[in-house]
Amino acid sequence: MMIISPRLLIVFSFIIYFASTTVSSAQRIIKENERNSEQVSIEKLSRAIQFKTIASAHDPHQNAAEFLALHQHLAESFPLVHKSLQKEVVNNYSLLYTWHGEDSELKPILIGAHLDVVPVEAASEQDWQELPFKGVVKEDHVWGRGTLDDKYRVVAILEAVEQLLEKGYKPLRTVYLAFGHDEEIGGERGAREISALLEARDVELEAVFDEGLAVAEDVLPGVTRQLALVGTAAKGSINLKLTVNGEGGHSSAPPKESAIGVLSHAIVKLQQNPFKARMTPTTKETVESLAELLGGKHKFAVRHYWLFKNKILKSLAQDQATDVLIRTKMAPTILEAGEKDNVMPRLASATINIRILNGEDERSVLKHVKKAIDDDRVHIEVYGDYTPPSPITKTDTPIFAALKNSIAEIFPDAVVVPALFPGGTDAKHYTNLTSNIFRFAPQVVNREIAMLVHNVNERISIDVFNACIQFYEVLIQNACGDGEDALLADLELEDLLPLEDVES
Ligand SMILES: [Zn+2]
Repeated sequence: MMIISPRLLIVFSFIIYFASTTVSSAQRIIKENERNSEQVSIEKLSRAIQFKTIASAHDPHQNAAEFLALHQHLAESFPLVHKSLQKEVVNNYSLLYTWHGEDSELKPILIGAHLDVVPVEAASEQDWQELPFKGVVKEDHVWGRGTLDDKYRVVAILEAVEQLLEKGYKPLRTVYLAFGHDEEIGGERGAREISALLEARDVELEAVFDEGLAVAEDVLPGVTRQLALVGTAAKGSINLKLTVNGEGGHSSAPPKESAIGVLSHAIVKLQQNPFKARMTPTTKETVESLAELLGGKHKFAVRHYWLFKNKILKSLAQDQATDVLIRTKMAPTILEAGEKDNVMPRLASATINIRILNGEDERSVLKHVKKAIDDDRVHIEVYGDYTPPSPITKTDTPIFAALKNSIAEIFPDAVVVPALFPGGTDAKHYTNLTSNIFRFAPQVVNREIAMLVHNVNERISIDVFNACIQFYEVLIQNACGDGEDALLADLELEDLLPLEDVES
């Protein structure tokens, strides 16, 4: 006697139902509907670009009307989201949506994006082919500030949820959608407040999915496959101010060593004494994945890592782009001294922006800098916020597998490669809620596209945008329970099948 489970039968009957209706006219209708819904999503993005949501470090309420108008636009564009999810406005301009899961035992996930954009420099305005805040749709692209960073993700995430709701999908896990309003200036008022709110409610997250790395094309010579780079760790950051006091006076009788001279010497010493190169667990994983792809001697070297470790480090140090993966980097970014050509400055100062590799902290960084400069005349102080290096996200977990499977579904040519994210995003504010943080933007990027971020003529291809919507639909289902399970759990079994028919 064979027993067929009722569940399996229902699945079969679904398939039969769909198969019998997919005649050519129905197909035409479906295609037509798809095209229409694509058109509608693009219009939603185009409109979202038109709000000048630029956050200001000095005035927390700058562009208030623009942010509120964007909220309004999102509310109108995603009616099901706004009907089914709980929406909270955090600190006036950030948005937190809660999509309650069916199973309260499961830890929620958080999908993050940001509503703010970087400003457009007045001097660059004439270089834009289309006005940056007009949201022009032209040549299969949506143009404007925020199309690549990060409004396309805000709209795509909401569109994905809207479409899942339309299909009746119910997540097993709770899903938070967290849209900060000041990521570009540090996220202190947005993401940090959202994180504090969740912490106060004792929320522990399974994972955070934020912007970060992407699917890279043509980055490695000899590798034709795309690399889906997932940021599983991020560097920390700190700003140091170096100050030297001078004697002042007339430039016709300068001292042997001027304030500018002493300061310059200190900066040169930092350049001559870089931090030591180190292999972190994250970069080791990156190297292993890439060696697997490249094969040959690369694979051999990684297999015999203990023997080739120094050689691998040396080759990574050769390129500026890979050197950042193996050491803390110091960059002098601001220099201030002097006002008049014949007056010796009484003060010279420099800002050193430091990106900290995992395994180091504020103290060890300061120690290195002091030792390298080794000059008491140079006063060294920390200013602004210190962000420690992030915890390292593990990749042998079911939630990483869910992400990996989602990437495989939408970007079948891509190989998933865990990597260090050298910058900072809102994700840094969520380290108190989970150690699983994934910094990954679901879009294919080559050198040309990467150049458009924060730049003139920022634009996104419509195909890339559509893939992004699909990605989040798939990710939510993979991370929060099978859509079919959730759907079926709701059906009254006996309504569909008389039980006596099940056994045969
Ligand atoms: Zn961004």
